[in-house]
Amino acid sequence: MVKAAKHTPCKREISFLEKVVNAKYDRQTITGLKKFIDGNAPQDMHDFYSKDELAAIMALDGTEQDIQARMPIKITRHYFDLAKTSAPIQTLVKASPKETYDLDGAKDPGKQLSYSPVEGLIHKYELGLIYVASTCSAHCRFCYREELIAKKIIEREDGTAAAKGLAQISEIVAYIKNHNEQVEKNNGRHPETGREKLREILMSGGDPMVLGNKNIAQWLAALAEAGISAIRIGTKELAFFPKRFDKSFFDMLDEFHVTYPKVNIRMMVHFNHPDEFLKKAPNGDYIEKDGNFEWIEQTQVAIKQMASRSFINIDNQAPIIKNINNDPDALRIMQRELKNNGVENHYFFCGRDIVGHKAFNVPIEEAWEVLNQSQKGLSGVEAHARLSITHYKGKTEVVAVTNKPMLGVKGGENGVVIFKLLRSANDAPDRCKVTIVGRNEDAIWFSGYDDRVIYDEAELYSMYDIGLCNEQEK
Ligand code: SF4
Repeated sequence: MVKAAKHTPCKREISFLEKVVNAKYDRQTITGLKKFIDGNAPQDMHDFYSKDELAAIMALDGTEQDIQARMPIKITRHYFDLAKTSAPIQTLVKASPKETYDLDGAKDPGKQLSYSPVEGLIHKYELGLIYVASTCSAHCRFCYREELIAKKIIEREDGTAAAKGLAQISEIVAYIKNHNEQVEKNNGRHPETGREKLREILMSGGDPMVLGNKNIAQWLAALAEAGISAIRIGTKELAFFPKRFDKSFFDMLDEFHVTYPKVNIRMMVHFNHPDEFLKKAPNGDYIEKDGNFEWIEQTQVAIKQMASRSFINIDNQAPIIKNINNDPDALRIMQRELKNNGVENHYFFCGRDIVGHKAFNVPIEEAWEVLNQSQKGLSGVEAHARLSITHYKGKTEVVAVTNKPMLGVKGGENGVVIFKLLRSANDAPDRCKVTIVGRNEDAIWFSGYDDRVIYDEAELYSMYDIGLCNEQEK
């Protein structure tokens, strides 16, 4: 792969970047366990891990079950303060030996490297994803980017092995321009891949919001100059450190909008549980105010700032994780409160098949039931979110789980699960095709249905019509 020369900003980029100011933030982050072990964590954090818990984790250091090698440990002061009164938040951020009891899972979830034409870029769908940071302010134990954050060595298709690298502006810009030029010359489709123009990019990682404003601004301007018309920023910073969304950040975005008025910013935020943004009374209940619940002020201010700008969309997406948010009542409150405050409920996900996923993932059928129950009592606009599971072939929706037998259909005696392909690689030729499988309430990944495929139009199991046997056809 030829390295592109260093990116040279044009006059318009320079004029925008000159107006951007970096600010300083004090997240009071604790990384790793040393401070807890040595008693050097702040006084009120001493008991976050008991001595027994620390000993159990440390006993695994250097072994195959090493917890910190699987996923580095990190927490902010803000998130710790939330965890003090929230079991789900503690579970989200607190390391446990359970994580490596079963190390089954994919080293490169979603086979992303198969869709990485340039280091740090995943071009699987009509949208491109770029890794711009390899850490977050705190680390979710269930992280589906654990291979990037833990800098694991991944085998590549060319036989080499290396940690996943971050995207470089010059290389990404060169790729986008080249791809779009070829699409233009070939009547709207890339001559080799058949894909359309790249018009949307997701800045991801890790969390782009750990970068300074100037660095984020460099990416925004370079992508806009390359012809990108919608830029997503994937972030959990509203939960980990909402003060990051300060005046200097919004000044930068406003200046970006003045310079590139046609480019839409899409904040893809990540809340798992309402404990991450609602205030609690001493008895643990959320505090009612004017028919809604009272929010943590800095989180609500940040969201209101985003929502007040017409060029910014805000969408929440989050996995449903065991002992964190497989709770219909919590998800109902979360969906309603987010919608009331200008955040769309986009996707809930079944956990990915990362290494150690059995410690976190709830069965697919349970996740569907949790979301279904949570949406009872919500209005249509509050209940927009769908349950998605990412197949190697593409993003898939769990459309329905039936409780009654599907009479006359072999394999459907206990009911069926219906998957629909929402997006597939290579420009979605199979979009909206479905796969129907017989129920398996223990299945936490597609493989749990390998032996009970009824109908496979979407080719998630790479075969057609297995077991389709209606009574009429006998
Ligand atoms: S915020 Fe996202 S990328 Fe960061 S640790 Fe959590 S799941 Fe991983």
